[in-house]
Amino acid sequence: MQKTKKYPISQTDEISRRKKKMGQVIVIEDRCKGCGFCIANCPRQVLRLSSVFNKKGYHPPEVVDTTRCVNCHFCEILCPEFAIYSVEYDDFEE
Ligand code: SF4
Ligand code: SF4
Repeated sequence: MQKTKKYPISQTDEISRRKKKMGQVIVIEDRCKGCGFCIANCPRQVLRLSSVFNKKGYHPPEVVDTTRCVNCHFCEILCPEFAIYSVEYDDFEE
């Protein structure tokens, strides 16, 4: 049987040296069909349905808190309409 080795992470070294990478969410509102997949599955509860209507008559998502997105791209992967994506946003680096 193969041996495995655990590498403990020191909170004071590696993690604290890392830059905090945040995401910026972009919604292409008129592509959205209001299914809510992105909202329901965002691990950081960044999104909610907006009150505006797009040209298809749906409510596209809007960002609740611009500091919460971690740029995981999950919303982007799930969206059936390719209506949302995230990009890295460096201005939140610590
Ligand atoms: S990239 Fe991740 S954290 Fe950011 S809005 Fe999409 S699912 Fe949420
Ligand atoms: S997953 Fe896409 S189509 Fe569905 S609500 Fe989000 S942006 Fe709109």
